[in-house]
Amino acid sequence: MKRPFKGLRGNPPDSSYDAVIIGAGIGGLICANLLARERLRVLLVEQHYMVGGYCSTFRRKGYTFDAATHFYPLLGNAATITGRLLCDLGMTNGWIKMDPVDHFHFPDGSSFAVPANFDLYLAKLQVEFPHEAMALDQFFAVVREVYLLGLLYYFRWHETDRLDQYRELTVREVLDHHFSDEKLKLLLAADCGHWGSPPSRTSFVFDSMLRLSYFLGNYYPRGGSQAFADELAQRFEEASGAILMSSMVRRIMVRKGSACGIEVETGPAHARRLHSIKAGVVVSNADLLLTLERMLEPEHDAPDRLAVFKQLRPTHPCFLTHIGLKDVPTEVLREAAGYHWSSWDSDQVATRSFKVFVPTLYEPAMAPPGGHIVIVQKLTDIDYDRVDDWPAHKAAVEQYIMTNLERVMPGFNERVVVCLSASALTSYSFTLNHHGAMLGWEMSPDQLGANRPAINGLVKNLYFAGHWTQPGGGITPVIVSAMQVAKTIIAGDSARVELTDAMSNHAATLSDFARRLYAEAL
Ligand SMILES: Cc1cc2nc3c(=O)[nH]c(=O)nc-3n(C[C@H](O)[C@H](O)[C@H](O)COP(=O)(O)OP(=O)(O)OC[C@H]3O[C@@H](n4cnc5c(N)ncnc54)[C@H](O)[C@@H]3O)c2cc1C
Repeated sequence: MKRPFKGLRGNPPDSSYDAVIIGAGIGGLICANLLARERLRVLLVEQHYMVGGYCSTFRRKGYTFDAATHFYPLLGNAATITGRLLCDLGMTNGWIKMDPVDHFHFPDGSSFAVPANFDLYLAKLQVEFPHEAMALDQFFAVVREVYLLGLLYYFRWHETDRLDQYRELTVREVLDHHFSDEKLKLLLAADCGHWGSPPSRTSFVFDSMLRLSYFLGNYYPRGGSQAFADELAQRFEEASGAILMSSMVRRIMVRKGSACGIEVETGPAHARRLHSIKAGVVVSNADLLLTLERMLEPEHDAPDRLAVFKQLRPTHPCFLTHIGLKDVPTEVLREAAGYHWSSWDSDQVATRSFKVFVPTLYEPAMAPPGGHIVIVQKLTDIDYDRVDDWPAHKAAVEQYIMTNLERVMPGFNERVVVCLSASALTSYSFTLNHHGAMLGWEMSPDQLGANRPAINGLVKNLYFAGHWTQPGGGITPVIVSAMQVAKTIIAGDSARVELTDAMSNHAATLSDFARRLYAEAL
């Protein structure tokens, strides 16, 4: 498939750059763009033959499948930090807004679609759960407050003691505190699969930030995830950046305690070459443990800190089944889309729920004419190191998924043109994410803020951007990490102040209540 960027195409990289970035996930691509825009000479190195990491696609029999990510909150809304950033980078690809934002299917056969408008959403909840109407008002008042305080604290590193009473809370604790209706409690956490962890281990503050961000717009990229990642690569090249594809960084060079370059393996398998490239700064968008354990010489590691990081819990891996279909009516798929639960207990997210995503509802061009795509996502609770028969594991989970699809959409199996699945091992193989984790470390209260690995400070001139570092996992936090790394490199910590303006735009698009709160919080 023709890509809109060139890459170095067999030409050797220069012997030195101002900055080298390891990994072309969204964290690496955004950081590369921001540094190149400041006229730094930047080399972006990617071990895979596609850019995007978890935001890439692959093609089979005319169907184009998103490898992982499909919800891109905020990115099509230029009034938000991240949406505005994309405009500033000259991105034009475009976004398709989702409405409803999500759809939940419950064990009793009922379902609930979440409208993209917050007032409609709340009104719909009040009608369906009149006995919890007051509790709903109280709950969402807290969610709104926490949303803004969370933005300040986690995205802007702005200390605020008003968050103290919420910071340690999990989603589960807050739902149990406010509500007694089990169905409502499940409904308000039914999308928890996107955190890669159960609600009893997911931060209420982070969840509130994502929950409300959906009402500022949740988007799918026009042309699919690869179109977004490819355009970021294209813009980077237009800003004079260099991209080295299919090249594995083996070592980060350190001299006198300061990162000063990389060793990277390039070329086809039969003629690999090792290049040493000097760099003023090195940014790793790759897995954190991989970076520290395999790319740094042991004497430059901080063994005590590495030991602490190894105690952190990664998010669950997400098993995916990608299916190309023919002759399935759009309405059948629209109805089946969303999270399916066979338990009322949202903590059973890794065992009793799965999600159906139908990208062709938003972008029909992902399938041949008349066709559709279904992507099923299912968290798996596995002990990665102990799986000794990956094909058997894959077959068992795929069987579970296909049986359920047939139950939800009778006759489904006869409409399948192509079907393939990806396990945790597949995720690891393509992206090198530790144990195929979905979003880096779990976003649990004890693994956020200062307890999450920082973007710098381990080795001078070595930075981390992506979901293994602060502020957290998922597209928005990953972009924020890349912005912070770029700003820290360019201008030191004082650059963080600029985010304040962008955040006031956030508040401006919310209610009066939120605006007032935002002003107070600052
Ligand atoms: C199934 C699934 C669904 C998801 N859905 C959503 C969603 O809908 N919305 C959302 O917001 N988030 C979602 N997420 C999470 C989100 O995709 C990630 O948090 C985010 O994409 C991570 O971006 P990143 O840049 O940190 O890392 P990655 O995407 O992992 O990119 C890291 C890159 O580094 C490269 N690399 C690694 N080591 C080296 C090396 N030694 N040399 C060169 N290159 C190297 C890798 O090949 C990769 O390209 C999902 C995740 C999964 C797995």
